[in-house]
Amino acid sequence: MALLKSSLLVEAGFDHGFGTRKTVTHEVPDALYTVGQVHGDRIITLQDPLPEEKYRFTEGDALLTRISGVFIGIRTADCLPVLIADPATGAVAAVHCGWRSLAKGLAGKAVRAFESFTRSDPRGYLAAFGPAIGPCCYEVGEDVRDAFMKIPGCGLTTEHRDDTIYASLKDAAAIQLKSEGLTEKNLDILDYCTSCRSDLLYSWRGEKTEERMVSFIGPK
Ligand SMILES: [Zn+2]
Repeated sequence: MALLKSSLLVEAGFDHGFGTRKTVTHEVPDALYTVGQVHGDRIITLQDPLPEEKYRFTEGDALLTRISGVFIGIRTADCLPVLIADPATGAVAAVHCGWRSLAKGLAGKAVRAFESFTRSDPRGYLAAFGPAIGPCCYEVGEDVRDAFMKIPGCGLTTEHRDDTIYASLKDAAAIQLKSEGLTEKNLDILDYCTSCRSDLLYSWRGEKTEERMVSFIGPK
């Protein structure tokens, strides 16, 4: 199980994968474009002519494309990787959802950008959430909770246990996607916590690692 897959995206015929610490080089596509992730809300559309550099070719936290034969990807170790696909046009998006980007509404903004790009109905979009640090382990401060509370529709789901606040990146991203029209049945949430599953996944919080897992998807 070196790459995790979403059954929803597999059934729809989208080539994709969520990397793990067991992923080996040959499982990651050659034609993979990634951005220099900065925890912001900038969305990049990858189109012709393709950039010469593939790795971190520009700064941003979300990528969209419809160019066949290429893959777009993001790198994470606790942050949430979200892959979005439009079966109507074959277009895809990859979104890097850390708390700072979610507090800026990135997941919702990515859907709006994808809608302008595809001109399709977001109710038909599919979205898969890969491994991320879960509410079991994701302790946050009041600053993080407050950052979410200020943004309409970004209500980060938090819970208090023993005077500590825990947050769910997946719930926050799901709220944003659904507020832009995605349906519950079109969300596939791979329920892995990066911190709990150190046997399979990298966790920045859990082990202060510099390693990142690559998640990728290609248009069809
Ligand atoms: Zn956990």
